[in-house]
Amino acid sequence: MTHPLLEGLNPEQLAAVTLPPRSALILAGAGSGKTRVLTSRIAWLLSTGQVGQPGILAVTFTNKAAKEMLTRIGALMPINPRGLWVGTFHGLCNRMLRLHHRDAGLPEAFQIMDSQDQLSAIKRLLKSLNLDDDKFPPREVGHYINGNKEEGRRPAEVEAWDEHSRQLRAIYEEYDRQCRREGVVDFAELLLRCYELLRDHGPLREHYQGRFRHVLVDEFQDTNRLQYRWLKLLAGGGAAVFAVGDDDQSIYAFRGANVGNMYDFQRDFAVDTVIRLEQNYRSHGNILDAANALIGRNRSRLGKNLWTAEAAGEPIRVFDAASDFEEAHFLVEEVRQLERDGLPLGDIAVLYRSNAQSRVLEHALFTAGIAYRVYGGLRFFERQEIKHALAYLRLITNSDDDNALLRVINFPTRGIGNRTLETLQETARVTGTSVWQAACSGGAGRSAASVARFVQLIEAMRATAANLSLPDIIRLVVEQSGLLQHYQSEKDGQERLDNLDQLAIAALTFVSENDDDATAFLAHASLEAGDHQANPGQAALQLMTVHAAKGLEFHTVFITGLEEGLFPHDNSLNDPANLEEERRLMYVAITRARRRLYLSLAQSRMLHGQTRFSLASRFLDELPQDLLRWLNRGYPAVGAVPHSSPSQVTPASRRAPPAESGLRIGQTVEHAKFGVGVVVDYEGQGANPNVQVNFGAVGIKWLALQYAKLKLL
Ligand code: ATP
Ligand code: MG
Repeated sequence: MTHPLLEGLNPEQLAAVTLPPRSALILAGAGSGKTRVLTSRIAWLLSTGQVGQPGILAVTFTNKAAKEMLTRIGALMPINPRGLWVGTFHGLCNRMLRLHHRDAGLPEAFQIMDSQDQLSAIKRLLKSLNLDDDKFPPREVGHYINGNKEEGRRPAEVEAWDEHSRQLRAIYEEYDRQCRREGVVDFAELLLRCYELLRDHGPLREHYQGRFRHVLVDEFQDTNRLQYRWLKLLAGGGAAVFAVGDDDQSIYAFRGANVGNMYDFQRDFAVDTVIRLEQNYRSHGNILDAANALIGRNRSRLGKNLWTAEAAGEPIRVFDAASDFEEAHFLVEEVRQLERDGLPLGDIAVLYRSNAQSRVLEHALFTAGIAYRVYGGLRFFERQEIKHALAYLRLITNSDDDNALLRVINFPTRGIGNRTLETLQETARVTGTSVWQAACSGGAGRSAASVARFVQLIEAMRATAANLSLPDIIRLVVEQSGLLQHYQSEKDGQERLDNLDQLAIAALTFVSENDDDATAFLAHASLEAGDHQANPGQAALQLMTVHAAKGLEFHTVFITGLEEGLFPHDNSLNDPANLEEERRLMYVAITRARRRLYLSLAQSRMLHGQTRFSLASRFLDELPQDLLRWLNRGYPAVGAVPHSSPSQVTPASRRAPPAESGLRIGQTVEHAKFGVGVVVDYEGQGANPNVQVNFGAVGIKWLALQYAKLKLL
C-alpha cells in the first residue's frame, strides 16, 4: 500500500520524494511539481522517522512560500513551526544572528534596514564625507556595496585600481563603520554576517552541521554565490542537500544570481542523482505550448521538455490598446466579466514588468471599485506613516539607530531645524558616537531645549513600554509621539490613521503567532514587507511584478505592457544575455496561468513623466500565432526575429501600406500639428490612401496621406 503522503505523485516525483539521504538535484520546468515534491519530501522524511523536526532546514524563495509550506506540512502532520527552520535566506540568517548576536558582533536588538533605509543611510554618509552626489550617485554606491557583499567581499578584499575605485572602497568602509556604530544591518549584510559567523566559529558551525541532516532549497537557480557558500558551510557535515530548480526561470542574474551554482552543486556535493520532471500539472495545453515555444528561442539552456495531459483549453487573448488608459479600462471590464462568471478575484493576477506601470492600473481598479492588492510596490510597511511609527519603536529598542532618529526627531515638527541636525551629526561623527548620544550630551545650540524634550519623550515612552504588550506599545507610540494628532489635523490623514490602526492589528497577529517582542516584530516588518495584507480574508485581485510572481499560480493571468522597451526592457535590447533573461521572465509570467491568459499592450503610455510610443513586444511575435486570439485590431510586432515574417502576426484586419509609400506599420512619424505618433493602419489604394496614426494623448487619427505631410522619423 502506498503511503498517503505519496498518493497521486507520478513515478519521477515519487522517486524524488523518497530518495535515500544523499544530495540530489531536481531539474524541472515550471508547474511540474518541484515545490510540491520538496514539501512532500519534508513530510515524508518526518513521518517515516528518518529525521526529527530540528534536523530539517528548508529555504524558500518568499515568506509567503515559507508560510504555505508550513501550512501544507501542518495539514499532513502536527508540527511545531518554531522548531522547523523553514524560511527565506534572509529570514533564516536573521534567526541565526538573533540567536548568536554576540558571536556575530551585533547588538542584541540590531535593526534591519530595508532598501529605502539603506539609501538614506548612504546619502547621509556621503554628505558627512562631503562627497558629491553627482560623482557618487547614492543608488550606484548602494549597488556597489551590495554587489561586493553578495560576493562575500569586505572592504579589505575589494580591489581598487584608480582614484575613483579607491574612493568607492573608502565609502564602503565608512558605511560599514556607520552601520556598526548604529547597530543596523542591510539585507546583504544579514547573509554575509551569518556566513562569517559560521565560517569563523568552529563549534557553532559544527553544531549546526550536526543538527541539519537535510537541507532543502527551492528555486535553486536564483541563489547567488554567497547564498551558495552559506549552504555549503551549513551542509558541510554531510547533510543531504535536496535542490530543486529550473534554469529557464533564472531571473535574478542582475542581482548576482548564478545559474552556475547548479553545476558547482553537482560537483561540490558529488551529486549522482539528477531527476527531471517533465509533466506539467498547472496549465492548459495552449498556455504550455506558448511557454515552450517562447523559451525554445533561448540558446543557453540545459534543455527540458514539458508536456501536459490537460486539454488545449482556450486560446490566449491579446488586447492591443491605444493607450495605457485603454489597457487599464480593458482590464477592468474583463475582470468584471470574470467576476460575474463566478471566478473569485483572488484567483486572478495582473502582472507587469515594472512597478511604475501599476499606478494607472490601480487608479482604474480603484475608480471601478474592484478590490485589489499590490505585492511589492509601495508595501504596507514602507508607507510613510508606518515608517514613522516604526522609527519611534526602533528608537525605543535601540536609540543608536541614526536613520530612525533622523526620520522622526522633527516629525511631527518640534522646531528642530536642519542646522541643529547637522551640528548633532557632526558631533556624533567627531566623537564616534550615535546622533542619539550627541543629542543626550546637549550641545545642540539654539534648539537645545527642543532636542532635550525629544530625548525625554523617547525615554518616557521606553519606560512605559517596558510593561506593555507590543500592540499597546504601538498605540502608545502613535499617541505620544504626536503622530495621531498630526494626522488628525491633516486633510487626507484618515487613510494614514487607518493604516496606523492596521499596524497595531498586524502587531497583534504577530504576537499571537510569534513572540511579544518589539525587536522581532521590527525584523518581521523589514523582512516580510511585501506579504502584509491590509485586509486579510478579503478577496482581492492580485497585482505584482513578474519577479514577485515566481512560484505562484492563478486561474487567470493578465500580462500587461507587452511593448518593446518595456518588456523586454530597454536595457536588454542590445544585449543578447539580458534579452535571454527577459525571455525567461516572460516564460515565468506565462507559466503562472492555469486556465486563462491575457496579453495586453499599449501603443502609448505615460512612464516616468513622459509619453512613450512603443511597438509591440517581440515576445508576441515569438509565440505560435495560432494560439493567439486578437481581441481587437492590433499591429504586428517589431521584426525582431528575422525568420518570422510579419504576415504571421498580422491580424486579418491588418492592412499594410504599399512598399513604395515608404511607410510601414509601426513607423514613427511626425505631424506638424499633432506631434509624434506611430502608424497603426492604412487604407485605400492609388491616389488617395489614408493612414491611421496614434498620437498618444492627442488620440488616434485617420489622415489623408497626400495632405498630412508626415515626416518619417
Ligand atoms: P514553479 O516552477 O512555477 O515553481 P513547480 O514546479 O514548483 O512550479 P508546483 O507549484 O509544485 O510546481 O506544482 C504546480 C501545480 O501542479 C500545483 O497546483 C500542484 O499542486 C500540482 N501538482 C503537482 N504534482 C501533481 C500531481 N502529481 N498530481 C496532481 N497535481 C499536481
Ligand atoms: Mg515552485
